Amino acid sequence: MRIVCVGGGPAGLYFAILAKRRYPQHEVTLSERNPAGATYGWGVVFWDDFLDGLYRNDPDSAREIRESAVLWEGQEVRMRGERTAYLGGYGFSMSRRGLLEILTRRARALGVDVQFEREIGDPAGLDADLIVACDGVNSGIRERHAEHFGAGVAVGRNKYIWLGTPKVFDSFVFGFEQTPAGWIWFHAYPSTTENSTCIVECTPETWSGLGLDELDPDKGTQVLEEIFAGPLDGHPLINQTRSMGVVPWLNFREISNRTWRRDNVVLMGDAAHTTHFTIGSGTKLAVQDAIGLADVLPLHAEDLPRALQNYDEQRRAALLAVQDAAHSSMTWFEHVDVHIDPHRDPDAVEFAYSLWKRRGHYPFWRYQLHLATQIGPLRRARSSVSSARRTLRARRRGELPVLHP
Ligand SMILES: Cc1cc2nc3c(=O)[nH]c(=O)nc-3n(C[C@H](O)[C@H](O)[C@H](O)COP(=O)(O)OP(=O)(O)OC[C@H]3O[C@@H](n4cnc5c(N)ncnc54)[C@H](O)[C@@H]3O)c2cc1C
Repeated sequence: MRIVCVGGGPAGLYFAILAKRRYPQHEVTLSERNPAGATYGWGVVFWDDFLDGLYRNDPDSAREIRESAVLWEGQEVRMRGERTAYLGGYGFSMSRRGLLEILTRRARALGVDVQFEREIGDPAGLDADLIVACDGVNSGIRERHAEHFGAGVAVGRNKYIWLGTPKVFDSFVFGFEQTPAGWIWFHAYPSTTENSTCIVECTPETWSGLGLDELDPDKGTQVLEEIFAGPLDGHPLINQTRSMGVVPWLNFREISNRTWRRDNVVLMGDAAHTTHFTIGSGTKLAVQDAIGLADVLPLHAEDLPRALQNYDEQRRAALLAVQDAAHSSMTWFEHVDVHIDPHRDPDAVEFAYSLWKRRGHYPFWRYQLHLATQIGPLRRARSSVSSARRTLRARRRGELPVLHP
């Protein structure tokens, strides 16, 4: 069978790896329009469930990804640089570029023909039994057949910008600052052991009130550096990614499709669906799509239509709950002002709890746990429990201890 993946993000690369790994006789080509090593964005976060899936499906790349990832412990909500509230938990993060490099190397080692600087226009011209449209949020293939796919795009209200900083955070930090134009905040976490990701977000009113709509990118970044000088300890913000130029302010695009298949073409990853970045799941879901399609991939092209139908039905159903959670999270951040009483000093602990439960409802004991987490010794006890759980889970998936210098 001849398979062509259009787009060299996590979805396309991981599917190419699995297709070649399970069916070495299939011919698998992946075309990416950008040069090797050029990509948007800084770091991505993920959790144990992502690593579990990677270890189950391709332990070689899983090991490399884990070794390149940074562990962060706990989440902090900082308000005006004065008050900090703590949330528990831990997660992992790594640079998007590093992730793509590992997946590209692995795909090539398995015999995938990875072609950079090859942009695919009309997929009809491709000689393939299966075409995987994994060409991202602005998918040209989806747009070409938007009516057939039942494509829907809802544009988020808030403005955001995906920046980097040499300040290395060791936990996931939400930093909220109050300006004369309203609240503005960042979501920060380590990307590597040398730098962090810092996504800045605000309402459109605050954005224009601060003049960010009219400032050139460097001046705009200076304004953000001044606002966040405290939590960034005076470190700069970086608004460039290597080879991809200056980063723009964007509005989130929430993508949905009524169907993910058209003849021998299937949508995958962000081309099929997006989930708001405040739940940090897009990469995991893209990889889960890849696993889902590989799981139903038949040996022969004649069985393909049924396989694609299964993929379409199963993955769309699996996504419903997480899409709901992502939408709730996006909406919570679009109404930050509502969660802060303008007539009182902000209560960081209450605010942090509201932030924590933005994705849904939690049992009453969660709130008690949250209050307990604000007390140093109890926080450390909670962290020890998390750490023991993490070690157990890592052992279960066959992970060796990761030694960072
Ligand atoms: C601000 C922000 C923060 C995020 N943080 C996280 C996070 O912490 N954790 C997480 O899990 N997810 C995160 N995400 C989501 C994540 O980045 C995406 O969900 C993920 O990259 C989707 O993978 P993909 O392969 O579907 O698409 P992409 O990674 O976008 O890859 C698509 C590729 O297709 C290529 N392409 C497009 N058109 C063509 C064409 N015609 N021909 C050839 N190539 C083409 C593009 O150049 C691109 O390389 C974040 C997203 C945003 C916006």
